[in-house]
Amino acid sequence: IKFLKEEHELTNVSYNTWIVPLKPYSLIKNDDGNYVLHLVAREEKTPFINFVQGKYSLFLSVAVEEITGIKCEIIIDTEESIPKPHEHNKLINSKAYINSSKLATANLNEKYKFNTFVVGKNNNIAHAASLAVAESPGEIYNPLFIYGGVGLGKTHLMHSVAHFILEEKNSDARVLYVTSETFTNELIESIRNVNNSTADFRNKYRNIDVLLIDDIQFIIGKESTQEEFFHTFNALTGAKKQVIISSDRPPKDFVTLEERLKSRFESGLSVDIQPPDYETRMAILHKKEELENISIDDAVVQYIAANVKSNIRELEGALNRMVAMGRLGKIDVTLELAQETLKDIINPNVPVLITPEHIAKVVAEHYHISLEDIKSKKKTYDIAYPRQIAMYLCRKMTSVQLKSIGQMLGGRDHSTVIHGYEKIKNDLKYNPDLSATINIITKKLNPQ
Ligand code: ADP
Ligand code: MG
Repeated sequence: IKFLKEEHELTNVSYNTWIVPLKPYSLIKNDDGNYVLHLVAREEKTPFINFVQGKYSLFLSVAVEEITGIKCEIIIDTEESIPKPHEHNKLINSKAYINSSKLATANLNEKYKFNTFVVGKNNNIAHAASLAVAESPGEIYNPLFIYGGVGLGKTHLMHSVAHFILEEKNSDARVLYVTSETFTNELIESIRNVNNSTADFRNKYRNIDVLLIDDIQFIIGKESTQEEFFHTFNALTGAKKQVIISSDRPPKDFVTLEERLKSRFESGLSVDIQPPDYETRMAILHKKEELENISIDDAVVQYIAANVKSNIRELEGALNRMVAMGRLGKIDVTLELAQETLKDIINPNVPVLITPEHIAKVVAEHYHISLEDIKSKKKTYDIAYPRQIAMYLCRKMTSVQLKSIGQMLGGRDHSTVIHGYEKIKNDLKYNPDLSATINIITKKLNPQ
């Protein structure tokens, strides 16, 4: 503000009288997403509150925006008129406040953090490597090269590293995330421009502490871009600055990439992300429900997890669609509705994958008991036996972990599921009626 007061021609006396006695008290985000910064005036200035508000709130709001990039309304309170904590929807502490402007310059998405990233078998190495790099940037794996198919979390992981460094290590670190397309465009622009802007370009990219460059495959093959990137890369890694690269394939698969660049990429650590398995897909959907504070029928969640397999963005998309349906029409999002709505995402030619939830439902219907009962802890024979049949079918027809099956069928552990499975398997040997029943249920499960 001292610097700004010169630019805005605020005299020293005005500055000292009106501005200095104001202390930031809170930054609140309204329901409509706008920020309100509350400042408190010292007691002796109480009579002048309205004056200061009228005369200086615009100046203050401009000053705040120039420094932080955040547009906010300024409200000047007296000690007595400070809003009580419960009147604040969301209090934002100063750390987050500084970060939000930082995030904008670094091009970071606030949602992509380690605490929103679900770790599964498919990505645990990539996750661990990313965290290690975040904890010791520039010191161990440099570059970190993350590769894998579309929508599997590469960008999310890269951003998580950057957030971690800013939040936990050094809030002043100069972090920059760019896609390789942006890098290319800026380079082309700088060459086209006359005013020595190639130097600006180099300055920008060589004076950073952490460079995240996403989808490098778009650079490979573009000779001049590739060359410039190579220099940037050498300058940064030479100065022990962290570089993180993502790509749709491992370095060795870049056929046209020069050997020197290829071996440089391989000199750090390359880690891959594979498509998530069913358990991880379920965990991601549940995480998303938790983060967005939504709740969807578990049969629907299982249906999505069972059928949308190769792209997490699509997995989220399917869930979002179901949520939107529920909100729009105020209708129950049932499995049938999900099947109908998601027809275009879920290939109709592939037979519907059978989920434990679906099995429980069909078995319950077959025995004229309620879904609630089959999923309960009740031990009477008329409920426990169908439940064991459900366990048998779940184990036989799905690849879902026994633990999850047991969880759904009354919060039982995996050994109970094995016991149920063995019981039915054994009964089948002696009981032809049972095997006929199982056949019918199997047909009901998969009418195709
Ligand atoms: P990529 O860069 O590999 O194409 P993204 O990082 O953009 O994929 O991920 C696509 C979407 O899936 C994002 O919304 C991301 O938050 C989400 N996502 C991916 N992996 C995970 C995960 N392990 N846990 C939670 N969300 C994930
Ligand atoms: Mg990406």
